[in-house]
Amino acid sequence: MTGMFDLTGKVAVVTGANTGIGQGIALGLARAGADVALVARSDASETAQLVKDQGRRCAVIEADLSTIEPCERIVEEAVAELGGLDILVNNAGIIRRNDALDFTEEDWDAVVDTNLKTLFFLSKAAGAHMAQHGGGSIINIASMLTFQGGIRVASYTASKSGVGGLTKLLANEWAAKGITVNAIAPGYIATNNTAALQADETRNRQILERIPAGRWGKPDDLAGAAVFLASDAARYVQGHILAVDGGWLAR
Ligand code: NAP
Repeated sequence: MTGMFDLTGKVAVVTGANTGIGQGIALGLARAGADVALVARSDASETAQLVKDQGRRCAVIEADLSTIEPCERIVEEAVAELGGLDILVNNAGIIRRNDALDFTEEDWDAVVDTNLKTLFFLSKAAGAHMAQHGGGSIINIASMLTFQGGIRVASYTASKSGVGGLTKLLANEWAAKGITVNAIAPGYIATNNTAALQADETRNRQILERIPAGRWGKPDDLAGAAVFLASDAARYVQGHILAVDGGWLAR
């Protein structure tokens, strides 16, 4: 049974892998046997060491994902350095907070470009490779705001709702090519992304009161879902958005 989750011999690309959820997923994939290319604009040496400590090969690809310019290069470098590309985790993302009435075009474009536009064009580049090489798995990092509206995060909600739609669209187009496309919707995970919420005593208490598990998630809590969706165990799972949220959506 464990063989179904074995990623030995697979090559994964994880974006935003220097910290947070991306680091947790990169390490989880490495533990399951995958070699990992870390895509980051900041120093990713800590994650690289964690991957190598698992006995896996690791490449670091420097890229700023605020535009689609590096997408083709990321795929080329991963293939050149690690010999293939079987798994893509579109994790890099940003958030900007402001009232809808004060929301700026800059805060709209920055978030939608990184979280949605680059996600699509990197998937397109990776999907082209996977389609020619027997298939693969694409895992998009969605959000509770793929399902809910949120507040003061207009561009983030728009982008993550879009990620849900694109996950289904790409699954529809690529399932017959042997590519699974699914998403993970993390609940409230303690990372840089949620530092402001964790620091706000009132919001922190309100959030914790609503999470049945009674605690913030940790990046490592996402690893099992990523390994599953990347593995042969999920070969017939398509267009699914898997919540890993300590029960938040069930409330
Ligand atoms: P994080 O610690 O802030 O990590 C975000 C990652 O994305 C970082 O590695 C960051 O790089 C990278 N990134 C952002 N913009 C980039 C760019 N232009 N080019 C290259 N890399 C870029 O937050 P996180 O919580 O782990 O977020 C990871 C993903 O999970 C995001 O898509 C986020 O929306 C999603 N998510 C998080 C939560 C949560 O509760 N934390 C919940 C739902 C969904 P730098 O370190 O260089 O900024």
